[in-house]
Amino acid sequence: MAKKSTSKKSPVKKVGKAKASKPAHKDRVLITGAAGFLGSHLCDRFIKEGYHVIGMDNLITGSLKNIEHLFHNADFEFYHHDVSKFVHVPGELKFILHFASPASPIDYEKIPIQTLKVGSLGTHNLLGLARAKGARILVASTSEVYGDPKVHPQDETYWGHVNPVGKRSMYDEAKRFQEAMTMAYHNYHGLETRMVRIFNTYGPRMRLNDGRVVPAFMGQALRGEDLTIFGKGDQTRSFCYVDDLIEGIYRLLLSDYAGPVNVGNPKEITIKQFAQEIIKLTGTKQKIIYKPLPSDDPMQRQPDITLAKKLLGWQPKVDRAEGMKRTFAYFKSLSKKELNEKEHFSFENYAKK
Ligand code: UDP
Repeated sequence: MAKKSTSKKSPVKKVGKAKASKPAHKDRVLITGAAGFLGSHLCDRFIKEGYHVIGMDNLITGSLKNIEHLFHNADFEFYHHDVSKFVHVPGELKFILHFASPASPIDYEKIPIQTLKVGSLGTHNLLGLARAKGARILVASTSEVYGDPKVHPQDETYWGHVNPVGKRSMYDEAKRFQEAMTMAYHNYHGLETRMVRIFNTYGPRMRLNDGRVVPAFMGQALRGEDLTIFGKGDQTRSFCYVDDLIEGIYRLLLSDYAGPVNVGNPKEITIKQFAQEIIKLTGTKQKIIYKPLPSDDPMQRQPDITLAKKLLGWQPKVDRAEGMKRTFAYFKSLSKKELNEKEHFSFENYAKK
């Protein structure tokens, strides 16, 4: 294992102190990717905190079902829009949270150009909007900026090991570009920016058929299918429950730190151990079967959250047993039709470009 990289001088220019955590009046927040897994939880959180939330989504991988419960709320509005195209929102904005993007390997392989565009052109549009409105913007980055890491655990000073033309490149490189663009707006325009590097997160409202390991295993258990492990199952991941992640993001937004911050749960587990835990939790009688490991599938992933602890006083609280129990309860509540849906996502509003 390579040695941890030494700390480099931060390129981050400090800006003013965080504002009060409670809005004085109905401050307006734009959340892109609002109908997605994380976006919808963010909408809930900001409504709960007393903000007026404007959700935006093009509904390719997101689902209105995730935000249906908010439509009766006068403090919520929804724009059906693709942020890769010019974005206009009337009125003032206090915060923008950019969470629009396909986020699972099978999704971004199916819509690679859309994935590149939302991370690059979409980010540029939203940075421009933030500048025009004098808003603070937080962008959703990812542990994928570390690629298949040679440093373990990964801290924010590590530059990563990414294949620029590999199977995950459309996502990884779009997010790396996003970080560079966001930092340029911060340094050149003095824009208030925040960046969260999100590690594997799970919980209610994940799309059952998005191909990621938590919904994949739980869906297989519920349909009575064998659990598919890719490779030998000795690759590791560290899973964070969604409520913990949202708390970390909320605190980061209100902090005064513009550099990237890891938010995730450092508890690491192999995928094989994880499959065994799911078998126990779901009580499935099915067995584990092995399939080829997709190329560029990272061998190990574990966040170093020292910075988040120090800056935000944040660390995860929900352990995996509890989080998985809540997540399984959600998947169990889905209809038979949803359980058997093979479509990965809807192309309804998407023209291949
Ligand atoms: N994986 C698996 N079986 C599945 C789905 C995923 O073994 O049915 C593996 C996948 O190869 C990866 C890990 O589980 O090593 C996590 O995959 P996921 O797609 O959830 O996210 P990633 O962290 O790879 O982006």
